[in-house]
Parts: sequence; structure tokens; C-alpha cells
Amino acid sequence: MSKKRRLTERTRALLTLELAIVLPAAALMGFSIWNLKHIQRSESVQAAFERDFYHVLQIAEKKSLEKATDLVTPIGKQFPNPDDGESKIKTRLAQILSEHPEYRFAALYDKKNNLLLTRLQPGHEQDQVFCALTQEAIKTVAYWLPLEASKMVTNLRMEAGKEELPVGFEGWWTGGENQPMYVNFAFFIPAGVPKDRVTLGIVALDDEYLRESFLPAMMKDVLTSKSLVMRGDVHPPVMMIHPPRDSTPWVASANWDGGKPELERTFTDVFPGLHLAIKYQGTTIADMGARFLRYNYMVLGALSLLMIGGVWLTYRNLSREMTLARLKSDFIANVSHELRTPLALIRLYAETLELGRLMAKEKYQEYFRIIREESERLTALINNILDFSRIEAGRKEYEFKETNLAELVHSTLESYRFQIQQNGFAFEENISGDIPPVVVDREAIARSLLNLVNNALKYSKDQKYIGVSLYRSNTRVNLEVQDRGMGIPKNEQEKIFEKFYRCGDALVHNIKGSGLGLSLVRHIARAHGGDVLVDSAPEKGSKFTIALPLDSPTQPGA
Ligand code: ADP
Repeated sequence: MSKKRRLTERTRALLTLELAIVLPAAALMGFSIWNLKHIQRSESVQAAFERDFYHVLQIAEKKSLEKATDLVTPIGKQFPNPDDGESKIKTRLAQILSEHPEYRFAALYDKKNNLLLTRLQPGHEQDQVFCALTQEAIKTVAYWLPLEASKMVTNLRMEAGKEELPVGFEGWWTGGENQPMYVNFAFFIPAGVPKDRVTLGIVALDDEYLRESFLPAMMKDVLTSKSLVMRGDVHPPVMMIHPPRDSTPWVASANWDGGKPELERTFTDVFPGLHLAIKYQGTTIADMGARFLRYNYMVLGALSLLMIGGVWLTYRNLSREMTLARLKSDFIANVSHELRTPLALIRLYAETLELGRLMAKEKYQEYFRIIREESERLTALINNILDFSRIEAGRKEYEFKETNLAELVHSTLESYRFQIQQNGFAFEENISGDIPPVVVDREAIARSLLNLVNNALKYSKDQKYIGVSLYRSNTRVNLEVQDRGMGIPKNEQEKIFEKFYRCGDALVHNIKGSGLGLSLVRHIARAHGGDVLVDSAPEKGSKFTIALPLDSPTQPGA
């Protein structure tokens, strides 16, 4: 019946544990793993990184446009007028170029006068490549200006409301794949030109200048900008510019480290034909994603381990509490029985004596002895319970005094000798003569000894022998109680020192006890700075040894 109840209690506790902790924990872990797997598959993370890059590239183009416009605007204001006369225009253009070495050539086009006047940057006459390239650029400009100028002017005039001096940009690549060259020019309506005229001022930025100064400065500006917020901020973004159909960098930011760009943008508003590419230094989005996942899996793993540890600890505590609860209820049953038996005997013999009907004098003696013995048993039991409750409440105090241990052991045994022999036990006492005085609590040591002797009495069947020895061993004094009784199985030898623990099922063996004796003995031994050891084999007998140190004990509380 009680076994069944315990079983259901255990099942219920396990079920609670499972429902309250294990299930939610498992669900949480499962969900996190599913979530991570989902992230792995989803492209939204990739898209988020790409959005960042897209944003940076957009800013780069905007910055380039602003800088180039700022560069050209003042020149537009100084530009000659188409009606100024050829020589004046040429001188003006030459002057502008000498003041601005960053331009390759300057030109003025006017449809009405059918005029295209160009001036090359002076000082480059010997540079054949420069001259050839510039001439080619001028030829292209001369070819399509008559075709496109009206449209370009209309467009610029439409912009005029918004900007001081609207500037448009054109650009293209020449020089083939082996030696790509970027040709470009900016066009604007020079200040002071009447509204009905189709007139364009043109300046072409030198490609060396673009490559070595303008574009690197722009990239540095964008990449070091305080407002640059990137998700992978441990790895800074790096940029480069390359021609179409060729991914070798034409210009690169200082920290460019090669590799495949994550995102590209072809400029249109300014410097058309430039391909701006961006990536992270030293890593790729794919790598970062993999690292993020790895990190998350590791955190999840660690959390899962903690959770499993927690569940295991809870389970262990729970089952310990349950065992303790069972032991406590056994204890109450045992103690009540232990109290009732001697009381019943005392009452029975006292009543018999009271009636005064006994003839033989020895009978009186025997009855008195039984009453004394039973009341001694009661006292021992009550002392144990009191001691135990003091220890549990942390109120147990010891009175350490220098003691003649040999005398203490002998006199304690003397008061018990009669009872031992009455029970038919062979009794051996071996107290060695070289025991120095030891600092102990007399009463506690006597009680420990009595508990051990009493156990030897209780747990012996046919082989009735009790041996008590007291001897010195190095820095210790050993007090040994040996029997040839039923012994203790190996797996229970540690447990017997726990409170309330009794070997076997209390209902199976009918030897009375409270399960407190040995736990008290251990507490007392440890409070003296020593310990209690057991050496036992089932059916062979047991030997309990209280080992006490010869030097002063540590304070109680073990
Ligand atoms: P109690 O004797 O009141 O049950 P103890 O704490 O003294 O409690 O002992 C715990 C258990 O250890 C006992 O129930 C018994 O099973 C076992 N035990 C103790 N001493 C001996 C012994 N000398 N021989 C065999 N078993 C013992």
C-alpha cells in the first residue's frame, strides 16, 4: 500500500518536473534551433547587409556629384561669353586652365555663331598619350555637340530653378581593356549667356587627377564619415572603382584588400561609366552569417547544457527531498514504537511488583533490572532525539575538556557490561596503556560509544561477540567497536551515516531503531576533528572506528 503510494508520489513529482521545466525548456530549445535554421535559409539577413552597402554607394555618388559641381561652378562664373570674340575667348580659356591644372581641356560651344573653341592644358605638348587622348575626346565632343547641345541646354535650363549654375556630366571609357582610360567632361551654361542662346561651357577633368586625388578623397570621406553605420562594424567597408567588363580596380580605397565585391553601383548622375564596388575588409557577408550562426549555436548549446544541468539538479534535489520525507515518516513510526515498547514493559513489571505477589527474591531483582534497562533505553533514545534536534537547529554545543579517554571508555563499558553479557554476548575490551590525555566532550564520546555498542547488540544474530578496542595510531586515537553480526552491504555503508537512514525495509526487519544513532556518531566525531569509519561485510560482521586526533579539536559545526 505504502509502496504504491510512494510510487505514485514519485511519478507525480517526475511528471510535474517534466511538465513545468523539461517541456518548456525543450520547446524553447527546439524553437531556437528552428529559428536559427530559418535564419540560415532566409535571405533577409543578406538583404539587410546589402541595404547597408546600397546606402553607402548612394552616398558615394551623391558626394561625388556635390564635389564635382563645387569644383566646376566657380569656373562657370568666370567663363567667357560667345560674343566676346575668338581671341578673348581663347585667352580666357587658357587662363582658366593655367589656374586649374586639374582640367585636361576647356571649350566653349555656341550654336548661333557655329563656334567651338577648345584649349588644352598647357605644358602637356610633349606628352603624346595625353595629346592623342585629348584630341580624341575633343573630336567626340565636336561630333555630337551640334546634335545634342540643344537638348543639353534645355535640360540645364530646367535645372536652373534649383541650382545656382546647373552642371551636367558626361563620361566614357577608352583605351581598350589593357589600358583603360576614363574620359569625362562637365558642361554648363556660362554665366551671363542670354536665355535664347544654345551655348555650353565645357571642362574635362584630368583622369590622373580623378584617379589619384578626387576619387580617393571621396572614398575616404565616405568611409570615415561619422554617420556611416554598418552592421558588420568590426570589419570596416572597403571600396574600389573599376571599368565595365573588367573587375581589376582602377582606383581603390586605402584599405582595399582584394576579393569579390558584395555590391556594385554604376554612376549615372556624375562620371557615368564608373563602377563603384564595395565589400567588407577581410570578410564576406556569407562568412559573417556563418560566424553569427556558429556563435548563436554555441550560445544555445551552452544554455541548453545549463538548462539540462538545472533540470538534473532539480531532479536530484527533488528525489533527495522525497527520500528524506519518506525516511522522516518511517522515523516517526519507528520512534513511536521504540517509545511504546519500553513504556509498556516498565508498566507491566511495575504493576506486577506493586501487586506484591512475587515469591522469589530473584524475581524482584530481575524485574527491577528490566525496569532499569528499559528506562535506560528510553533515556538513550530521548537523548539521541534531543541531540539530533539540537544539531539540526544548529544549537548543539560541545564541552571540550582534557580527558583520560581510557578511563572514560572503560567506565562507559562497565555500566553496559552486565546487559551485554545478559544477552549472551562474548565481550572483549582492549584498552592500550599508552593513551595520552585527549581533549573531548565526555558525554558526547560516551554516547557515541554506547550507540555503536548498542548497534552491535541489535544487529547480531547467531555469532554473539562484541569487541571494543582503544589504541593509538600515529597522531590519532582509534576507538573500535567490532561485532560478528549481520554486516552491511557495500552500497549502504555510506548511507547508514545519513539521518533517518536504516538498511533494508523497516517493515521487513523488525529490529527497532530511529536511524539517528550513526548520524549522531558521525557529527560528534567530526566536531572533534575526527571521523567515523566502517569496515563491514554482510554476514561477517562490522567494525566501526571513531578516529580522534590527538591535537585539540576544531570547534563544533562539522
Ligand atoms: P538505528 O540503529 O536506530 O536504525 P543507526 O543510525 O544507528 O540507526 O544505524 C543505521 C543503520 O545502519 C541501521 O538501521 C542498520 O541497518 C545499520 N547498522 C548500524 N550498525 C550496524 C551493525 N553493527 N551491524 C549491521 N548493521 C548496522
